[in-house]
Amino acid sequence: MIYDLIIIGLGPAGLTAGIYAARYKLKTLIIGRDLGQTAEAWLIENYPGFQDIKGMELIEKFKEHAEKLGVEIMQMVPVNHIKKENSIFVVKTGDDQEFRAKSIILAIGMQKRKMGIPGEKNFLGKGVSYCATCDAAFFNNKVVGVVGGSDSAATAALMLSEHAKMVYIIYRKDALRAQPAWVEKINKNPKIKTIFNAIPKELKGDDVLKSVVIERAGKTEEIALDGIFFEIGYKPETNLPAQLGVETDEYGHIKVKPDMSTNIEGVFAAGDVTTPSEKLRQIITASAEGAIAATSAYKYIKSKGGD
Ligand code: NDP
Repeated sequence: MIYDLIIIGLGPAGLTAGIYAARYKLKTLIIGRDLGQTAEAWLIENYPGFQDIKGMELIEKFKEHAEKLGVEIMQMVPVNHIKKENSIFVVKTGDDQEFRAKSIILAIGMQKRKMGIPGEKNFLGKGVSYCATCDAAFFNNKVVGVVGGSDSAATAALMLSEHAKMVYIIYRKDALRAQPAWVEKINKNPKIKTIFNAIPKELKGDDVLKSVVIERAGKTEEIALDGIFFEIGYKPETNLPAQLGVETDEYGHIKVKPDMSTNIEGVFAAGDVTTPSEKLRQIITASAEGAIAATSAYKYIKSKGGD
């Protein structure tokens, strides 16, 4: 069987593309490892229609919506290989299945950036985490650090403050650049202390993490803590675009035209993987791009004589 469209990625871009594709009556399969960054968001307060909602709850609603419209969804399945054979795309998954489609939407998102300091790998799961939503409950009444100064760091710190007795935000600049609404909440929260102009240099401990060494104003300081959460952004997934010969910018973001098409005919892209850091990277923008990509895929299939 040949699908009209295979969407890779189960975040807002991929799932919205699925919803639109289903309404264009395209035979659609979405394949993804997990529900993406949205699932990890503690609280979302700027998605219209929901004054506040947990990230997992919102993305589950997206998924349910797509499924109700008849989209096939494979979750917890990585796509390892993709190639174009004549005008058909062949997609191979980590569990050795093979699927074929007339068009592809890459909505593959980004991976969490690592800091790359001594101790970071050793203490992974023993104090080091990249997901506050997943691990906050392990730090009840403990002291934790959050590295970063944007929205992920801000929301992680706020969430952690519901569990930990003390949260240090360690940020390399002198003022947080998270949304002002988050910054206001942080400033009012007595459990959160912000350490500015500080760069983590090393993590120390024995069996578990005990402290972070930071550099501030040319001096090193050691801060005792039980956990540290790195929230220093994301980098795009580059494997699949490279396999298809899809053009990216110097940072690995897929280059798209306004209709979300790429340089490879039949391949479209949407969401964070297409979005350089100076542009808005939000659920609403990813969803909008997913809708546009699905519409373009529909037009493409029609132009090739598909129904
Ligand atoms: P961002 O790329 O926005 O921010 C990364 C942060 O990490 C920046 O403060 C950056 O510093 C810092 N940083 C990057 N590299 C290093 C390094 N090597 N050492 C120290 N610090 C470093 O990523 P986010 O994950 O915060 O956000 C991604 C997107 O998701 C954004 O568009 C954001 O708005 C959105 N988001 C929205 C949320 C919500 O509305 N609920 C929640 C979470 C994310 P600097 O500031 O100096 O560049």
